[in-house]
Amino acid sequence: MSSTLQGVQYFESILDTVGNTPLVRLREVAKGLPCPVLAKLELFNPGGSVKDRIGMAMVEDAERSGRLKPGGTIVECTSGNTGLGLAMVAAVKGYRAAFCMPDKVSSEKVYLLKAFGAEVFLSPTAVEPEHPESYYSVAKRIAAERPGAVLMNQYHNPSNPLAHYRSTGPELWKQTAGRITHFVAGMGTGGTISGTARYLKEQNKAVQVIGADPVGSILKHYKETGQMSEAHTYKIEGVGEDFIPTALDFAMVDRAIACNDHDGLNMARRLAREDAIFVGGSAGMAAWVALEVAKECKPTDIVVVLLPDTGERYLSKVHNDEWMRDNHLLDPASTRVGNVAAGKTARVRKLFSVDAGEPLKRALALIEQHDVSQLPVFKGDEVVGTLEEGEVLRMALADRTALERPVDSLMSAPLPVVDANEPADAITKLLAARTSAVLVRENGKISAILTRFDMLQFIAGGE
Ligand code: PMP
Repeated sequence: MSSTLQGVQYFESILDTVGNTPLVRLREVAKGLPCPVLAKLELFNPGGSVKDRIGMAMVEDAERSGRLKPGGTIVECTSGNTGLGLAMVAAVKGYRAAFCMPDKVSSEKVYLLKAFGAEVFLSPTAVEPEHPESYYSVAKRIAAERPGAVLMNQYHNPSNPLAHYRSTGPELWKQTAGRITHFVAGMGTGGTISGTARYLKEQNKAVQVIGADPVGSILKHYKETGQMSEAHTYKIEGVGEDFIPTALDFAMVDRAIACNDHDGLNMARRLAREDAIFVGGSAGMAAWVALEVAKECKPTDIVVVLLPDTGERYLSKVHNDEWMRDNHLLDPASTRVGNVAAGKTARVRKLFSVDAGEPLKRALALIEQHDVSQLPVFKGDEVVGTLEEGEVLRMALADRTALERPVDSLMSAPLPVVDANEPADAITKLLAARTSAVLVRENGKISAILTRFDMLQFIAGGE
């Protein structure tokens, strides 16, 4: 420190701000549970994620062992947080950084790494890992061919769990005054859970460690049976695997709990809306599992869950209503009526209706041509009634002269109207209770009709 800065509080470099992240109690989402649930907010790291911790550790350990020398290149296969953690260390310490990733990654991620001066190599997504063009092969080739290049290999690098043994574990023990009883974390490379758990269990072997695993990953099944199984795709990023990383020490994990995309991603959205904690999908998954664990706890227990990263990297995914809707993952309680209607109008452009003075045959024609089951009846801009397909057919069959009569003498009561700004579960409640469809009012005008079928299509998809 230079003498002119004596007494001034500052950090020598951005790297000194990694770690010592706060523990924040989950309030709204954990309401009514028997014990407190505390979240370790890794978004407070300078790179916005838990991976800043291992970026530092892997580089410093490679320096210490003599593998990484001045002027060297840090190489890794990563599209995400680990790349950013490593890119920051490379920038501060004057190394070069080269990251290999599949070309499906968003351009934001590529630009983010380039902003720190890193080189980025994109590989075709649809090739096997053994293929020479795969991002894995490209990384290995750069590490082998470029003098002074070192592959960080987070999945099999002991410095990854060690970083958590040295920092995350001691921080949690201190922050909870040794009172932590349960630790919950997602498992990707397994570094976070294995290293943190090892430290905590050394302090108190009764601490229970629970791994959160996305449905589709093989890690939970492997933990329980020791057998490999088939992996399936899922949307939660950064966690779960289709192979077993050696950074993951299953002996440190007491149990694994699975969480599906719907529950995990909607929990990430609830954390933002209800507790103003803005995190990614894997954090939503870990929080969902932590709440499941807390349900079974005693009032004296303290559940701690690690939330790995900020939600900003997922603004076009989990935190985007359209993306959630298109993937049929959106919980009606976390979106608005207008969004459900927009999903329908993308498929069916028009709202068919009849005017109160028009004859029943006009309604019959619309029902036939456009295969609609309910027709709202309007008088000017106002909805005055409804014609149901079955009723129209019954009336026309019973009395042919009915076809010439105006619909307002034959219609039934108007469908309920919901405003586009209301939460979408308002529709679910109405449809479950007493009506086959609802009308949506947007900016004062009736703009759409939503049936039970439309709502099911929205929730579950219609493949
Ligand atoms: N969440 C996110 C967003 C991640 O990027 C990762 C790391 N792959 C994890 C969770 C899991 O952490 P770990 O690799 O330490 O198991």
